[in-house]
Amino acid sequence: RQEQYRALRDVPAVTKDGVRIGLHLNAGLLVDLGHLPETGAEGIGLFRTELQFMVAERMPSAAEQQSLYEAVFAATGDKPVTIRTLDIGGDKILPYMPKLEEENPALGWRAIRIGLDRPALLRVQLRALLKAASGRPLKIMFPMVATVDEFVRAKAIVDREKAHLRRHGHPLPSDCRLGAMIEVPSLLFQIDEIAEAADFLSVGSNDLMQFLFAVDRENRRVADRFDPLSAPAIRAFRVIAEHASAAGCPVTVCGEIGGRPLEAMALIGMGFRDLSMSPAAIGPVKAMVLSVDAAAVKAVIDAEMARASGGASLRPALLAFAKAH
Ligand code: PEP
Ligand code: MG
Repeated sequence: RQEQYRALRDVPAVTKDGVRIGLHLNAGLLVDLGHLPETGAEGIGLFRTELQFMVAERMPSAAEQQSLYEAVFAATGDKPVTIRTLDIGGDKILPYMPKLEEENPALGWRAIRIGLDRPALLRVQLRALLKAASGRPLKIMFPMVATVDEFVRAKAIVDREKAHLRRHGHPLPSDCRLGAMIEVPSLLFQIDEIAEAADFLSVGSNDLMQFLFAVDRENRRVADRFDPLSAPAIRAFRVIAEHASAAGCPVTVCGEIGGRPLEAMALIGMGFRDLSMSPAAIGPVKAMVLSVDAAAVKAVIDAEMARASGGASLRPALLAFAKAH
């Protein structure tokens, strides 16, 4: 199997009916970037910056952050990298930050909420990123955005940092794109507006499913109570794929779901064209892409969605389709 996947490394990920699928890597530590050449991924679809902060003994200084991001860009070369700003809080704790007593940390003070309330932290990170990416393209995305307004406020902080660097004669990135993660269900109901405001979107299906079904992603006792291939989940995914496409806003799926072949096949049938996943998932997902007909998967999903009731899962039908093909 491993040999077979390795042989696919330089084969473009194109479905049988000619649909090109972008396969990208999720990473968080410098060591993860070593997998980029060996997997043949197009780039880094999600770089989780908090991991570097979680393994540090104290808050990395501005200079340390900058050299970290420089190392990321050195390791990725010309391949695109999407950097996510700090996604701390919830299950991601920094040992050197005071621990908050919160009843519901997943719903608490975390991610962009901290960034907007303590802009100094976000500003330092953004400045380090902008400096590290001078002269090259930069893609930044914000985690846990719940309202378009939060995204607009984060963007204003980036604009201010850009202006500051320009004033001080620092060369800026050649191109700077800002994205929002779709992982809080409220964005489903602002989808056109966020697709208009953001340069790109990225679906954090781990959190989106957690919040959509109110099922703690860390709690095994309730893990079986929902299926990301059930009709309500697919309806949510389709809203994102269809509205992003109508708005001409690029969208990637970067949750774990994109790295599982059956789920990835379903996402392609729903209209997603870019998936970001762990290094080990690239081979199996690419093998699936090469053997699948995107239009046929879409037809299965359309037909099953038309008669799905009671929150039924499309998994059996999709599995039967996958086996037959
Ligand atoms: C997600 O929520 O799907 C995601 C990609 O982010 P994380 O798993 O880091 O929360
Ligand atoms: Mg998330």
